[in-house]
Amino acid sequence: MQYDTIIIGGSFAGLSAALYLARARKSVCVLDTGAPRNRFAVESHGFFAQDGNDPKAMLETMRAQVAAYPTVTFLADAAVDASKKGIAFAVTLRSGAQLTGKRLLLAFGVSDILPETPGIAEHWGASVIHCPYCHGYEYCDRRLGVLNVSPMSFHQAVMISEWGPTTFYLDGGALDTAQSDGLAQRGVRIEAARVERVTGDGRNLSEIHLVGSQRQRLDALFIGPRNQLNSTIAAQLGCATTTGPLGEAVTVNENQMTSVAGVYAAGDITRMAHNITFACADGVMAAMAIHRSLVFDAAL
Ligand SMILES: Cc1cc2nc3c(=O)[nH]c(=O)nc-3n(C[C@H](O)[C@H](O)[C@H](O)COP(=O)(O)OP(=O)(O)OC[C@H]3O[C@@H](n4cnc5c(N)ncnc54)[C@H](O)[C@@H]3O)c2cc1C
Repeated sequence: MQYDTIIIGGSFAGLSAALYLARARKSVCVLDTGAPRNRFAVESHGFFAQDGNDPKAMLETMRAQVAAYPTVTFLADAAVDASKKGIAFAVTLRSGAQLTGKRLLLAFGVSDILPETPGIAEHWGASVIHCPYCHGYEYCDRRLGVLNVSPMSFHQAVMISEWGPTTFYLDGGALDTAQSDGLAQRGVRIEAARVERVTGDGRNLSEIHLVGSQRQRLDALFIGPRNQLNSTIAAQLGCATTTGPLGEAVTVNENQMTSVAGVYAAGDITRMAHNITFACADGVMAAMAIHRSLVFDAAL
């Protein structure tokens, strides 16, 4: 069977697209390996009607609502290869199966490359966090830190002071005078020493350990990790990408179409600002553009 659309990645972006395509009575196959980026968090914030809910439960509800449409097929398998075959696309799965679709939507998300500092990974998504709009409010006016992991960290330290008293942990890095002055104006404390590890009770952070046996109390540590695309399929297909300060993104036009005709992309892989609202909106936009292209440009 040839699907109208194969969606690679069945999370916020992919499921939003699947819902719209299903409602247009298109056949859709959603491939998903079940590892959404926010799986480390127990609460999700900032998405209307779901503020404070468990992100896994949100996705289960979304999946169940999409699965109610008879033209949708779900496969818990990874796409490992994709190529153009005549006027369609062939996708090979890890299981060895091969599918064909008239259009392709890439929604496979990104992964965060966490610093190797001991304790960071264990607290990631709970008290080591990256997005103040997602999790900052819950730590308002508590002891906040920002770890210097990239040239963007200075900007993050300035911003985080909006939420509470902030220390910028330089971890051996340096600041110029303008940056030091900017942080001072915002009341951000600067700590120059190298960071050895962070510790806490369960998923709650309590201390940051600096070289020289110095310890400081801390409730939340913000980091802005680099991220990487979860799949090489965009590259295999020849889709153009751009590289920003924190990672690579697939280039799309205002309709979420990539540089390859018939291949669309949505969600975190297409943008530098990442959240569920944007991912869902991208998925909806991609689905409407795919539908229009199936109607008006049947042969690519
Ligand atoms: C710790 C943390 C907490 C967050 N909290 C919030 C929050 O509170 N509010 C908010 O709005 N945003 C939050 N975000 C951001 C949010 O998680 C992302 O913006 C959102 O998940 C992006 O959706 P997506 O569909 O683009 O990608 P993802 O949700 O990452 O989904 C990609 C899907 O593709 C699948 N996949 C990958 N490769 C393949 C393949 N080859 N074949 C098949 N399937 C594949 C994956 O298994 C995954 O299910 C948080 C992020 C992190 C890291």
